[in-house]
Amino acid sequence: MAENYDVIIIGSGPGGYIAAIRAAQLGLKTAVVEREHLAGICSNWGCIPTKALLRSAEVLHLAEHAKNYGLKLEGSISPDLKAIVDRSRGIAQRMNGGVGFLMKKNKVDVIWGEAKLTKPGQIVVSKSSKKPMEPQAPLPKNTLGEGTYNAKHIIVATGARPRALPGIEPDGKLIWTYFEAMVPPEMPKSLLVMGSGAIGIEFASFYRTMGVEVTVVEVMPAVMPVEDAEISAFAKKQFDKQGMKIHLEAKVTKVEKSANSITAHVEMKDGKVEKITADRMISAVGVQGNIENIGLEALGVKTDRGCIVIDGYGKTNVPGIYAIGDVAGPPMLAHKAEHEAVICVEKIAGLPNVHPMDKLKIPGCTYCNPQVASVGLTEAKAKAEGKDIRVGRFPFVANGKAIALGEDQGMVKTIFDKKTGQLLGAHLVGAEVTELIQGFVVAMNLETTEEELMHTIFPHPTISETMKESVLDAYGRALNA
Ligand SMILES: Cc1cc2nc3c(=O)[nH]c(=O)nc-3n(C[C@H](O)[C@H](O)[C@H](O)COP(=O)(O)OP(=O)(O)OC[C@H]3O[C@@H](n4cnc5c(N)ncnc54)[C@H](O)[C@@H]3O)c2cc1C
Repeated sequence: MAENYDVIIIGSGPGGYIAAIRAAQLGLKTAVVEREHLAGICSNWGCIPTKALLRSAEVLHLAEHAKNYGLKLEGSISPDLKAIVDRSRGIAQRMNGGVGFLMKKNKVDVIWGEAKLTKPGQIVVSKSSKKPMEPQAPLPKNTLGEGTYNAKHIIVATGARPRALPGIEPDGKLIWTYFEAMVPPEMPKSLLVMGSGAIGIEFASFYRTMGVEVTVVEVMPAVMPVEDAEISAFAKKQFDKQGMKIHLEAKVTKVEKSANSITAHVEMKDGKVEKITADRMISAVGVQGNIENIGLEALGVKTDRGCIVIDGYGKTNVPGIYAIGDVAGPPMLAHKAEHEAVICVEKIAGLPNVHPMDKLKIPGCTYCNPQVASVGLTEAKAKAEGKDIRVGRFPFVANGKAIALGEDQGMVKTIFDKKTGQLLGAHLVGAEVTELIQGFVVAMNLETTEEELMHTIFPHPTISETMKESVLDAYGRALNA
C-alpha cells in the first residue's frame, strides 16, 4: 500500500538528510530514501573520512618534527596504515549512525532501497543495486523497504560519483578513484595523481606526508585551479618543498598497466611526452551527477552537463520535483548541499523571505598542507568583471601566533571594491585557514566594508590577526609588516 508523505527525499547525504530534518521541523510528514549508506558520500567516502586520514598525516608530520618543539621522541615513528584506515572507517560509521539517530529523533521515515520517480508525486523503491557499505551503524528500527510511495513534493538529492576519462578508466586496483584511495590495503611506494582539484590535492598531501613519492599532473596552469592564482602559487611552492613533483599544463594521454604498476604517458607543456611509472594512480578529474535511472527523462526533468537544472530555490522545470546538492550542479560541496536543502524545504513550506542561493558566498576549503580557503571573487575574476579594486596581503611570517606554532608559512589576501569598500573576496593559505575563512564569509554575507572590518577587534595572539592586517594592508595601513 502506498504511503503518503508531504516530502520524500531521494538520497540521505548532507543535502538529503538536512532537507529531511528541516521539513520535519516545519511539520511536514517526511521520508528519506537511501540505497547504500546513511549520510551520503560526505560522511562515508568524502569530507569526513579524508579529514580523518589527513589528521593522521598531520600528527605524523608533527611527531617527525618534534625536535623543532624541543621534544625528544625515542625510537622511530612510522605510520600503521591499517590502524589509520580503520580509524577513518570507524569515524565514517559513527557519522552514518549519527544520521540514523537524527532521522529517528525528528520522526523522519527511512526507506531502504533504490528510488525511481514514476510520475509526479510518486516513487517506486526497489532492491538496491548497491551493497550496503561496511562498516555501517544499524539502521533505525522502523526502516521501511521496497514499495510505492507518494508525496506532494519529491526532492532529488542523489549526489555524484567520480568522473572518468575515456581510456583512463579507474579499475579499482592500479587506477584508483577516491573510494580505493581512502582504504589502501598497502602503501604504494609511488603514486601519480591526475587532477589537482580539492580531492586530488588532499590525497596527494596525505600520501606525500606518509612518505610516498607523489607526482601530480594538472592540465591547468595552476594547482587547485579555481583558487586565486597567487594563493595557488604559494601552496605549490610548499608542495614543491615537501618533495611533490607537480606538472602543470600537462595531460595524461594514455596509461599502460603492468602487474603492479602503471606507466602514464604525460604530454608536457612543451608538447613532449614523458613516461611516468608509479605503483598506483588516482584519477581525480572531477565528479558527475547521479542523474541516470531515476526516472528524470520520462518525466521531462531538464538536465545540463550531467546535472539537474534548478532555480535559486531548488525547483526543477517539473512542478513538485526539486533537486539539491551535487546532483544540482557545482560547486559540489557539502555545505552548499545543506544550504540548498534548507532553502528548498522552506520554500516548499511557504515560509516568507526565503533567500535564493547566492553562489558567490559559498566558501571553498581544501585540507591539504598548507590548507587553502576562499570566498568570493579572485583578483582575476574581479578584474575580468571590470571592477576597480584594492588588494591587501599579509604573510604569516609576521604573525606572532603562527611563529609560536611553528606554522609561519601562509598568507591572507583580501579584495575590496575601490569605490564602495565592499569586501569582494578573501583568499587564505596556511595553518587552520579552513577554520578562519568563516570570519570573512560572515563579513561578506553582511555586505561588510573595509571600515567595519577595521573597527572589528581580533583577539591576540591568533592567526586571525592576519585577516585584519590584510584588510589594513589594502588601505596602506598594515601595522605589523
Ligand atoms: C574524497 C572527497 C572529499 C570531499 N571533501 C569535501 C570537503 O572537505 N568539504 C566539502 O564541502 N565537500 C567535500 N566533498 C564533497 C561532498 O562529499 C559532496 O559535495 C556532498 O556529499 C554532496 O552531498 P549530496 O547530499 O548532494 O550527495 P551525496 O553525499 O553524494 O549523497 C547522495 C546519496 O544518495 C544516495 N542515492 C543515490 N541514488 C539513489 C537512489 N536512486 N535511491 C536511493 N538513494 C540514492 C547515495 O547512496 C548517497 O548516499 C568531498 C567529496 C569527496 C569524494
